[in-house]
Amino acid sequence: MMRVTLWGTRGSLASPGTETARYGGNTSCVQVEGGNGTVLVLDAGTGIRRLGASLPRTVHRVDILLTHLHMDHIQGLGFFAPLHDPNTEVHVWGPASTTATLRTRLMRYLSPPLFPVHLRDLRCQLHLHEVPCGDFAVGEFRIASALVCHPGPTVAYRIATPRGTVAYFPDHEPALGVEEFPISEQWTSGYAIADGVDLLIHDAQYSREEYDDHVGWGHSSVEHAFKFAAVAKVKHFVPFHHDPAHDDNQVDELLAAATTAARPSFAVTPGAEGATFDLG
Ligand SMILES: [Zn+2]
Ligand SMILES: [Zn+2]
Repeated sequence: MMRVTLWGTRGSLASPGTETARYGGNTSCVQVEGGNGTVLVLDAGTGIRRLGASLPRTVHRVDILLTHLHMDHIQGLGFFAPLHDPNTEVHVWGPASTTATLRTRLMRYLSPPLFPVHLRDLRCQLHLHEVPCGDFAVGEFRIASALVCHPGPTVAYRIATPRGTVAYFPDHEPALGVEEFPISEQWTSGYAIADGVDLLIHDAQYSREEYDDHVGWGHSSVEHAFKFAAVAKVKHFVPFHHDPAHDDNQVDELLAAATTAARPSFAVTPGAEGATFDLG
């Protein structure tokens, strides 16, 4: 069995409030659990705090896979309880950069004045790894990463077990620079990572009109996200990284209209905080 749990579905900025309660206000964070007890955490948005609180004490290793270091994907890191537990090994994987190491870039946030504790003073056994470095394995998971279209070094992840495959693309603009999206598979950003997966969790931040005003900001319109899912021939599509300015009813309307227009051959479940998906 492989269980995927959404702990943060919001893009850009945490957006708590009665108007966002159904889809959730926490920023990107997704948990993937394997049948052998391996715990992966995809991004460290504000949703990671509740994920950390939910982990049983029997978990002594956690692997956090960061797609990139924009604030909405790392803001929860310092509030993740296992980082402060000397009995836990925490591995943080994130994209390499040509300008500074992953450690140096994480220290910019995990140090005063932005955060009271220095990265080096965290009590867990911390290991940092830069990706992409080919495929790698964590427990029973085979993981592939690739750079995708988004400002700054940003990767997407494909996580596979014999029971299922998940692709995670929280911030992705595959339509950038493409006259008529989609183009052929091999020229589509992120195609190899998403190809044929059982579950695709993908950026669906903007309406069509909003996208036209935000070309190059690194996100997808809902319509582009559906087209990407179709190109990749996924089995189940979870649109998320909802815009902080969209209330629950707007998310419903946007996704309903896009589903009607796209008539997808795959299942669609709008990403809501707390949702779980069991594969295999
Ligand atoms: Zn983001
Ligand atoms: Zn971003």
